[in-house]
Order: sequence, then structure tokens, then C-alpha cells
Amino acid sequence: MKNKLITIQCVLLLLVGCTNPKPETTNLKYVEEPHSHAQPNEAVITHLDLDIKVDFNQKIISGKASYDIEHNKATEIILDSKYLDIEKVEADGVATEFSLGSFDEQLGKPLKIAIKEETKKISVYYKTTDKTEALQWLNPQQTADKKHPFLLTQGQAILTRTWIPIQDSPQIRITYDATVSVPPALMAVMSAENPKQKTADGRYGFKMRQAISPYLIALAIGDIEYKAISSRTGVYAEKSMLDKVHDEFSDMEKMVAAAENLYGKYAWDQFDVIVLPPSFPFGGMENPRLTFATPTVIAGDKSLTSLIAHELAHSWSGNLVTNATWDDFWLNEGFTVYFEMRIMEALYGKDRADMLALIARQDLDEEIEGFKDTPNETKLKLDLKGRNPDDGMTSIAYDKGYLFLRTLEEQVGREKLDPFLKQYFEEHAFSTMNTERFIQYLDEHLLDKNQVEFNTDEWVYQPGIPANQSIIKSDKFDKVEQAIQQFIKNNKVNPAVTKGWTTQEWVHFVRNFPKDINKDQLKMLDEAFDLTHSSNSYVAMVWYEQTVTHDYHGNNVDTEVEKFLTSVGRRWYVSTIYKAFKKSGRTDEALAIYKKARPNYHSVTTNTIDELLGY
Ligand SMILES: [Zn+2]
Repeated sequence: MKNKLITIQCVLLLLVGCTNPKPETTNLKYVEEPHSHAQPNEAVITHLDLDIKVDFNQKIISGKASYDIEHNKATEIILDSKYLDIEKVEADGVATEFSLGSFDEQLGKPLKIAIKEETKKISVYYKTTDKTEALQWLNPQQTADKKHPFLLTQGQAILTRTWIPIQDSPQIRITYDATVSVPPALMAVMSAENPKQKTADGRYGFKMRQAISPYLIALAIGDIEYKAISSRTGVYAEKSMLDKVHDEFSDMEKMVAAAENLYGKYAWDQFDVIVLPPSFPFGGMENPRLTFATPTVIAGDKSLTSLIAHELAHSWSGNLVTNATWDDFWLNEGFTVYFEMRIMEALYGKDRADMLALIARQDLDEEIEGFKDTPNETKLKLDLKGRNPDDGMTSIAYDKGYLFLRTLEEQVGREKLDPFLKQYFEEHAFSTMNTERFIQYLDEHLLDKNQVEFNTDEWVYQPGIPANQSIIKSDKFDKVEQAIQQFIKNNKVNPAVTKGWTTQEWVHFVRNFPKDINKDQLKMLDEAFDLTHSSNSYVAMVWYEQTVTHDYHGNNVDTEVEKFLTSVGRRWYVSTIYKAFKKSGRTDEALAIYKKARPNYHSVTTNTIDELLGY
């Protein structure tokens, strides 16, 4: 189904000449939004009071979402809703008429609520259903401690409407208060001011005083505990994980300080991280005040903590200055990758940052190769109307966006780029940005001012990578490549060469085996380094990609691949391995594993893998 949509759209784009028309500027506060039914220029929500009860037996959330609203004599306000049972609706405490429009597979149903000239508050009484896409209910077996169930939400991009009726557009900003009732053995935390201890009655109150976009409303419930790192940073995790997580992320305060040093004060007071069970679909999600993270980054040596730097960077790019629509997603992610690299450089040095940047560059090249028949997908500014915004969550937004800023940095120098970015975040704090306004701002405040010529339009509106791209080099990776050649040529491994290698070097090593590497050579490397049983999830993932691609079955690797795919739900990891199966004509084997693994995945992961494997 999704494939079809992509094809039709690309044909249309070819017909009209493959350029995204630049939207006309208007005086309206909110731009046209392809992924929400809301009409915020008519009537808009400003504050949410959420009062919900979480029932783990029935796997249902029920309660009331009340909104303060602003409008100019509007007669209705439209919310987004998907797979929700709406029981009744009130306007200023009195029952009012409402209707649900027709169902759209991406957008759900518009919830139209009748209001009067003087209406200030609306309340929606509702229940979630078993179709909800944001919620992932985990049974005790799927958690680290295996005693209690767990619930997590994932709102980005347009899933918040599947657990709260809301105007679900990133350009809308609201503050919120919430009361959440959970079973007393569990603790609830949100993207808000959070408890540090369990309450006796399982009732938790939350406040989010800074206005955020609806996709950033988040809830996690489990048998978790808190451990502080500094007065404003700390971690939540299940008991058996807590100390490990605390050690792994002990540099968090230093990261916040480094980030503030670059681009201004951290605006959200508290920066905590919750480590979730392994079926969480992403590496991390930048929910304000409380980043959600996968346990696959707990490597024991802090080697995968660039993920935390990334989510922290979103506290500026994304959460503070937010993409107006999902077509502008690169403004969230490209800036965040750039900022992440700068934090990593500040904390761990240029070598480490260069390695990370080069890995990102290789991911980008791979992604562009994958889009060779649909080059419009490689533009920074996308046109996702009629499609799932998840389709735009590719390396292009992240790594081409990063390369754009890195190239710009080379052109103008850090001494000019850094103050520009700092001012950009300051001037647009708690507001939204679209691509056109950003380009205008860039011209005015950086390029024209310094009389610099830069091909911004080519970077943003054209497919592929412009010729003036920054060239990324890493001496450490050069040495890794030499090691590969040496091992293969001599048919012998010299383990001394690999002494002191970081995770990034191991990843580079495994990803850069010669294309025609044979099973005996893989066996030699596996015998020397036992890559099959690597405790580092990233190294294991890239190794399994190789073993699947080259049909290597030694060292019980098939068992490990299956174990990995049935325990981890991180979309990037599992889709990489399933893709390798498919490419090697082994889709049947992939499907056999997927059948077992699928109940463990969040809907954002199953959406991708269903499509990939034709499930
Ligand atoms: Zn991100």
C-alpha cells in the first residue's frame, strides 16, 4: 500500500518537472499542514489538562482531555483522532455536539466540536482501542526485570492522536498538566516535571510549563527507579539496569554544559533519560525533559553515548525551534546531527567526531544509492502530502542535513556559524520554522551579511549531494581499512592491530569487508574476534548484516541473529538485517523469524518491516 503511494507520487512529480514549488507566504500564523485535520487559524488549543487511568489488564487508557482554546468567533474546533472511542464532548462544562469525519488511513478522523463565540474550554471523554499505534504494552517477559508490565508511548510523527484526541500538528504548541492513575507497583513518567519516587496510590501529577508540540507528549509506565547524575540530570531504568545505565550516561551533565557553551542556555530545566525495554522502536526519542532511549546503547564503555548527545541537541533543534511540518523534518534532524557532532567533539575530541561523521556519510551514500530510482526522496525539503510522514525519516534529513551545515561551516567558518546558530535558536525559541523562512533567515543573518555565496537552494531543493560538499576524513578509519586489506591478503589476523579500537572502528571494520569476501575469510575473522557474540549491539548488528549477506553460518551465528531479531525492536537495527535477508534472496527465512519477532515490535517498526518483507 505504501509502496504504491510512493510510486504514484513520483510519477506525478516527474510530470510536473521534479521540483517542489515553493509555497507562497501568507500572513496566517499557521502554514498549510498536510498531516493534520486541525484548522488552527480558525480555532487552536493552547493548554491540555489530561486526566487518565491506565488499565494494564484491558490494555486501555481512558479519561478526559480538556483544552483551553483560542478562536475568533469560530463555530467549531477540529481535533485529530485515530482509533479512539469518543464518549462525550463538553464546551465550558456543558455537553456539546460533535461529529467524527471519514477515516483516512494516515490521518485518522477529524473530530469536529461545536463551540460558541464565548467558549474557552472543551473536554473530550475518550478511550483508546486495541488499534492504537502510539502505545506499546509490554508483558513482564519483555522487560529487564520480568516482574511487571510496561507501557510506553511514541508520538512522533503523527501518533499522539492515537492516544489523545488533539490538534496533532508540530506547529501547534501547548503546555500541559496531567493526572495519570496506574497500578501502585508501577511508576509513571512523562515529558514533564517528573516524580523521583513511586507514590503509594499509583496516582501521579505532571506539569509541562514550556509549550511543546503534541508529538512530544510522552508517557512511560513501569517498575522503574531514578538515580541522579547531577542536580539537573539523571536516569530512570528498571532496577537491574539502573546502575549500569547510570555509569554509561555519567557524562550527561558534561554534555549539557558543552551544549550550552555552544548554543545557549538549556531551556527545559531538567534533562533526564529513561532507558526502556529493548522493543522500543528508536535509538532515542527527544521527549522534552525526559529522553526515551533504547537499552541497545548500554555498551559498558560509553561508546554509543552519541545517542544521548543527539537527543540532548534536540532540546534546541526540534523541541525549542520545531519543524513546522514533516516536510521540513531536516530542520529538526540535520541541525541535531550537526549539534550532536559538535558536542561529541567538545567532550571526546576531533578523532571521535570525525569517525561518527564518516559513518554518517556512509549511511547517507547507502541511502542515496537506495533511492537511485526515486531521486526526489533525496531532497532536504520533502513533499509528503498523502503519505506517512515516517517515509521522510531517512538518512537524508539527518545526514544530508548534517553535510549541508558542515559544508556551510567550512565556507563561513565556525566563528561566524556558531553565533548565527545561537541567535537562530534564541530568536525562534518556542516557535516553529519552515524551510522557506529558514533560508530567508540564513540569507539575511549569515550569508548576505558576510557577503558569502552559497548554493542553499541546490542543497535544499535538488536531489543528491552538491559538488561543494565537505569531504570527511578520518586517519583512524584509514588504519582500519589497511588492517582489513592486510588480514585478507595474508589470510591471517594480527589481533595486535585492533588493540584499543573503539566501537566506531569496529563498526567501520565490519562494514568495509570486501564485497567478495568469502565464508572462510569470515570464519577466520569470527574465530579471531568472536564477532558473532559481540556484546556491543551496533557491532553485532553490522556483523549480522554481513553474515546474512554472505551466507555464513559458522559459530552458531544463525541462533544469535534470531535471538537478536526477537529481542531487539529498534527499527534501524532490525530493518538492516531483514534487508540483508531480502537482498540475498532469503526472504522466506526472514519471514520465519519475523513471525516470532513481530509481537515484540512497536507499530512503527512493524509498519516498516511488513512493507519490506511483504508480510
Ligand atoms: Zn533526532
